Amino acid sequence: MANHGLPSLPSLPSSARSRDLKPCECGCSGLTQRRFVPGHDSILKAWRIRVERDVVKLEDIPHDGLRAAVARELGLAKPLTKAELKARKKAEAEAKAREIAEMPIKNVG
Ligand SMILES: [Zn+2]
Repeated sequence: MANHGLPSLPSLPSSARSRDLKPCECGCSGLTQRRFVPGHDSILKAWRIRVERDVVKLEDIPHDGLRAAVARELGLAKPLTKAELKARKKAEAEAKAREIAEMPIKNVG
């Protein structure tokens, strides 16, 4: 036997889970540890290029959060609307709640 009869130790909690989650910057309300959910930086860039080249108008971008993100990328950012602020606060609160729910329970004593 490789461990010479010693009982094995319990595994340690993952430290990756304790990193802060934040809303994706494309405005999709997805949560990520980085700036974007994987692939969403490309979606934002694709829309920005189409607006820059007059293929679509900013107003024609179908999703409010994405439209705001493209405007921000283009330097046309307007202050967030009440609905956008509310959605952002909700996403941050959900991220915090999820983080707390995933915390490892430590045995005391
Ligand atoms: Zn996103």
